[in-house]
Amino acid sequence: MIEVSNIRKEFRTPVVKQGRFSGLRTLFTREYRLKEAVRGISFQVEEGEFVGYIGPNGAGKSTTIKMLTGILHPTSGHVSIGGLSPHKARREVVRNLGVVFGQRSQLWWDLPVIDSFDILARMYGVREPEKEKRMRQFAELLDLESFWATPVRKLSLGQRMRADLAAAMLHDPDVLFLDEPTIGLDVNAKRNIRQFLKRLNTEFGKTILLTTHDMDDIEQLCRRVMVINDGQLSYDGTVRSLRDTIGLPTVITVTYRGDFHIPEGYRISKEAYEPELPIRLNIIAVEDHTVTIEVNRKEIHTLDILNLLAQWGELADVDMQDPDFEDVIHKVY
Ligand code: ADP
Ligand code: MG
Repeated sequence: MIEVSNIRKEFRTPVVKQGRFSGLRTLFTREYRLKEAVRGISFQVEEGEFVGYIGPNGAGKSTTIKMLTGILHPTSGHVSIGGLSPHKARREVVRNLGVVFGQRSQLWWDLPVIDSFDILARMYGVREPEKEKRMRQFAELLDLESFWATPVRKLSLGQRMRADLAAAMLHDPDVLFLDEPTIGLDVNAKRNIRQFLKRLNTEFGKTILLTTHDMDDIEQLCRRVMVINDGQLSYDGTVRSLRDTIGLPTVITVTYRGDFHIPEGYRISKEAYEPELPIRLNIIAVEDHTVTIEVNRKEIHTLDILNLLAQWGELADVDMQDPDFEDVIHKVY
């Protein structure tokens, strides 16, 4: 339903010179600096998917989203949403799109929140009963009731983001593009927004593309993640297999009831896995009755590890810590 083929975006910015008359000179001399923000990206998103779009600052995420929503026109390549070009058929495509830019509100700054909704409803031709129904629904899901009458500029960031999300959904689009909707929010506000997004996807079947710096957003919401690095996709697949691909170790801590015995050959070291052993694991600490090891779950089945550890003594407790997704991502960036 969303099809992106080999899109590129080049920005030409005039070079500003220093010195007297410099401003004037830039008007006449045509010196530009070229920046290729997006360098040939292709992907498809099916109906009902929830896809994370992540990458370091300046990688080209926002530029991509602007091309998908028709705000920017690709220098080359094609975008199609539901079979239409967001650039050529902007009005039609926009009817089926909701967009939230976390850094910039689409609400009218000085007006009470509710007035923005009235304006948007009229802009999108949402009829009164539908509008009422949806606003009641959003008020409940996003807890908007308490600030309907407050001017947008007086809202907290969390309130504003909730209002922006509801506004983006007012015309009931099938597709939602979110550019950092949780930026700067506290834990509570983030949780609210995540819950809402999750319901939009699972209950209402919305297709969502989410840009965020918060890896918890990705882990909790997305099955699939695309990583953009310096204008190009460096990964497109499930969150799960991204973890596996990177292969950071899982830390397992076992506590034994009474004595235990670590067999010959397993040494305590923080270095690489012991390659000659049948099960490659790394003992990183032994303390009283607990042994902490690192294993690569891509290489070894969890059950095999537990069976092995159970041979060393009588297990009382097992704790397993998968690698932090933040660390996994750090390896891809
Ligand atoms: P991200 O959202 O991943 O942080 P952006 O898509 O905003 O990255 O920007 C990608 C690159 O393109 C950056 O180097 C940025 O400075 C540049 N860029 C973005 N918008 C413009 C613009 N309007 N004019 C010139 N350069 C731009
Ligand atoms: Mg951005």
